Amino acid sequence: MKILLIFFSLLITACSTNVTVVKNDKNDKIVIAHRGASGYLPEHSMAAKAMAHAMDVDYIEQDVVMTKDNQLVVLHDHYLDRVTNVAKVYPDKKRKDGRYYVIDFTLNEINQLEMTEGFNIENGKQIANYPQRFPLWKSSFRVHTFEEEIEIIQGLNKTTGKNIGLYPEIKSPWFHHHEGKDISKKILQVLKSYGYKTKDDLVYLQCFDPNEIKRIHDNLLPELDMEIKLVQLIAETEWKETMIYQDEKFIPYSYDWMFKAGAMQKIAKYADGVGPWKPMLVKDESTKNNLIITNMVKEAHEAGIEVHPYTFRLDSGRIPKYASNFEDMLNIFYYQVDVDGVFTDFPDRAVNFLKGTGLTH
Ligand code: CA
Repeated sequence: MKILLIFFSLLITACSTNVTVVKNDKNDKIVIAHRGASGYLPEHSMAAKAMAHAMDVDYIEQDVVMTKDNQLVVLHDHYLDRVTNVAKVYPDKKRKDGRYYVIDFTLNEINQLEMTEGFNIENGKQIANYPQRFPLWKSSFRVHTFEEEIEIIQGLNKTTGKNIGLYPEIKSPWFHHHEGKDISKKILQVLKSYGYKTKDDLVYLQCFDPNEIKRIHDNLLPELDMEIKLVQLIAETEWKETMIYQDEKFIPYSYDWMFKAGAMQKIAKYADGVGPWKPMLVKDESTKNNLIITNMVKEAHEAGIEVHPYTFRLDSGRIPKYASNFEDMLNIFYYQVDVDGVFTDFPDRAVNFLKGTGLTH
């Protein structure tokens, strides 16, 4: 199919006089389905994963957290309360901060919960994070395990003849360590048991915590006789995405060094790619006539690592003012900024965009 597509692309190019051929050496730009096809179905639901698979993406993302009984489940937060009815089913299991922690529940307990689109509580009412998306509490969705998700992706690869990869994220390893759990080791063991062992296998393992990725690179991978691709996600320090336990207190890990010259060379020593936030590549103050592109992609490519920014969304207010529309935003990032892939909640749009350039992906 790929060869046929290339053939037809060449044929179309050869037969037309006014086709704009996008000049780019690389024809391996990728689309990562962020939490599945999460623009259309509840994030991390099995349905969202199957839909993403049908959209011909290259990779499907799993955020992974650990339960009380050391099972791996696919959820964005290490809390259950943003996407399930946990507060109704287990009202007594909240911690002092009012949150329901995945790590306080067994898999069996989590299996009793209904899952839905993300919501916040405002004035005692549930308000959907994205009002235009799939309605709250409609149909029936459940939290599933990491293994169950690998099995649906591998099963669909078999029945469709495609070869779509995994893009798991280790969520808050600092928190899991503090609770006595080695989530990274468990994720690696599961990946290995399903055949993901080398850099040629279709998996990128991502994490925001540099100390944990270094640990994986230096210790865990050699110990498990594995060598898979690792991605350093980049956050703003103020988001408190990664914390360090110091003097019995958590303090935010400082990402400042990642924005300085030479940072990509340092990351290249332990990772194969970076996952920055979009404004770290194109500054928000950019305009249509004046894109302010940072050096991060250039320096990453010079260091031999890939760049997969997050998150490309169609929802209102999510397209920066320097882009005319979603496809223009993709064009800016894929071909002007020259990223190697994007995380998107609307992966069909990115797949179609790449196909439309005449390049297969
Ligand atoms: Ca993620």
